[in-house]
Amino acid sequence: QELGIRDIYWEGEQVNYKKDTSTFSLIKDPNKCVMCRRCETMCNEVQTCNVLSAVNRGFESFVGPAFNMDMADSSCTFCGQCVAVCPTAALTEMDNTTQVWNELVNPKKHVVVQIAPAVRVAIGEMFDMEPGTISTGKIVTALRKMGFDGVFDTNFGADLTIIEEATELIHRINHNGTLPMLTSCCPAWVKFFEHQFPDLLDIPSTCKSPQIMFGTIAKTYYAQKKNLKPENISVVSIMPCLAKKAEAKRPELTKDDHSNVDIVITTREFGRMMKSAGIDFANLPDSEFDKMMGESTGASIIFGTTGGVIEAATRTAYEWLTDEELEDVNFTQLRGLEGIREASVFIGEMELKIGIAHGLGNARKLLEDIQSGKSKFHAIEIMACPGGCIGGGGQPYHHGNMEILKKRQEALYVDDESRKKRKSHENKEIIQLYKEFIGEPYGEKAHELLHTHYVAREKI
Ligand code: SF4
Ligand code: SF4
Ligand code: SF4
Repeated sequence: QELGIRDIYWEGEQVNYKKDTSTFSLIKDPNKCVMCRRCETMCNEVQTCNVLSAVNRGFESFVGPAFNMDMADSSCTFCGQCVAVCPTAALTEMDNTTQVWNELVNPKKHVVVQIAPAVRVAIGEMFDMEPGTISTGKIVTALRKMGFDGVFDTNFGADLTIIEEATELIHRINHNGTLPMLTSCCPAWVKFFEHQFPDLLDIPSTCKSPQIMFGTIAKTYYAQKKNLKPENISVVSIMPCLAKKAEAKRPELTKDDHSNVDIVITTREFGRMMKSAGIDFANLPDSEFDKMMGESTGASIIFGTTGGVIEAATRTAYEWLTDEELEDVNFTQLRGLEGIREASVFIGEMELKIGIAHGLGNARKLLEDIQSGKSKFHAIEIMACPGGCIGGGGQPYHHGNMEILKKRQEALYVDDESRKKRKSHENKEIIQLYKEFIGEPYGEKAHELLHTHYVAREKI
């Protein structure tokens, strides 16, 4: 990636294996594998997914799932962390950039784009900017130059997620529902528990992820307001994530044969697209998101880091449970980069016990505690990637440099602090959306549009 090497030119004895293009998220090309086995360590020891191991022996050996089955048939979560550590591009993201260009030149399509919170603090690294540079305004300008008809923020979807998730948590607490409630906005985490803990499918929140909530609202409310047919709207997501590519193709997240989200590209693919279009990103002026689905609060920005989703939910749940204004919205006890963290937040008389894990190996420990009845938490946030989405498998390569992750994380908190509105329920466009279209949070229409279900899968 860094050196622009996509093909191997020199000759000699070479193996010739079939590329694995069976998934929507990643490509495995064993011909480029040098058997360093970093991916194996990441998958088995950090993520505890046990998908990758050496297949065959000697010159014939390469890394793949058991029996060299297709990645799509394995227990792969599509977290992309193996891609993040592969030094030779034997593992890469599935490239969907051509599809995006094709949509942009299709006169029949109204193409809207959303960008995830973690993208804005990392994309600058591909243009020699300092890690943690907040580039939101430049991203919006670049996307308009590329020809998108609507430029929006996944943070709008994140604020919407909090309205539903906080309501669901309060509902579970008040009605003796299943606790702890687990966050559900990370699709690699969702696939992990479907394979590894199929007996616990009633524990995660039923909320769709922010990218899918955004896509759903774009194909319904936005379509209605703009007088467009949903099938003529194309929703493109720019995500730090490989798992979001596969998430967008889940059958339960499509409606009337239309995906809620049509194409997902990663931060790296977005950077490549800008480079191929000759966009001088570092010197672009700033622009604002479009209206209707472009407003966001500080709470939604911190979705991009471990601890951010549960902090955002706590800000809203606090005010709704106590009917009091939350003076200090900074729940610093929920922040940090330790793999497993726990904290208590007093909401009136109630002590809300919160657990946080990032990295699937850490998540497994909290899940095993739930299985054995030892868990003491009311709510648990889990993100599959180390650091959360700031360390996503589709972000500019950070080569394990924690300083880069820290700078990306700090930038999200700085962006949050710079906002006047820092609680999701203060988002005016979200308030309008419920008033005009959805009705009650966690109500009938909200369930139909914004909630989902999970599927028990085999562990292979
Ligand atoms: S990290 Fe890449 S090069 Fe190393 S073993 Fe895995 S696939 Fe092969
Ligand atoms: S994407 Fe994640 S789960 Fe799948 S092989 Fe790579 S590290 Fe393992
Ligand atoms: S932590 Fe974020 S980037 Fe990583 S798999 Fe989950 S949603 Fe994707």
